[in-house]
Amino acid sequence: MPLKAAIVPVTPFQQNCTLLWDEASKRGVVVDPGGDLDRIQAGLAQVGLVVEKIILTHGHIDHAGGAAELKEKLGGVPIEGPHRADQFLLDGLSAQGAAYGFADTRNVTPDRWLSEGDNVSMAGLSFAVLHCPGHSPGSVVLVNEQQRLALVGDVLFRGSIGRTDFPYGDHAALIDAIKTKVLPLGDDVVFICGHGPMSTLGEERRSNPFLA
Ligand SMILES: [Zn+2]
Ligand SMILES: [Zn+2]
Repeated sequence: MPLKAAIVPVTPFQQNCTLLWDEASKRGVVVDPGGDLDRIQAGLAQVGLVVEKIILTHGHIDHAGGAAELKEKLGGVPIEGPHRADQFLLDGLSAQGAAYGFADTRNVTPDRWLSEGDNVSMAGLSFAVLHCPGHSPGSVVLVNEQQRLALVGDVLFRGSIGRTDFPYGDHAALIDAIKTKVLPLGDDVVFICGHGPMSTLGEERRSNPFLA
């Protein structure tokens, strides 16, 4: 399966907006369009990508801030994710955008909330949904076991984990989700995260100081 991925860094937070597509059909998804839609759309045009849906890993502004506008620009493609527990974040995007100085950030309501055990089709493949709260209550991880690929949002990074110093953050829950749901997927699983470079679960299991 010729699955392809490309990263478009967006927002002042350098968030990894991810384009994922099937090279044969050029059909695929945009994951976490936090903002800078001109750059995202340039990436889509470069690939010739036909966007089937927008995926949100969680409700933070650098991930979801551009979702409503991108949906509109793409003719109303559906938005799937995150878990409903992040609805309060998605309902507060406009106010947060004003506070952070983001231009034109809109609140967004997904067409589909995701829950543990759901499956999401992306680029012709089925991805399983893991609900991994802690960084935010509604964070989800998406994994395709055959391709050994996971999209982890801000749950896990190369050498770090998502911050939990928000009023709604839960460090213990995040560590528990990583150790009981994500790491067991297997050492050879490659992950794309919300910030910074990709890694593998094995590399993080062996060397990530937060998982020692
Ligand atoms: Zn986040
Ligand atoms: Zn982030």
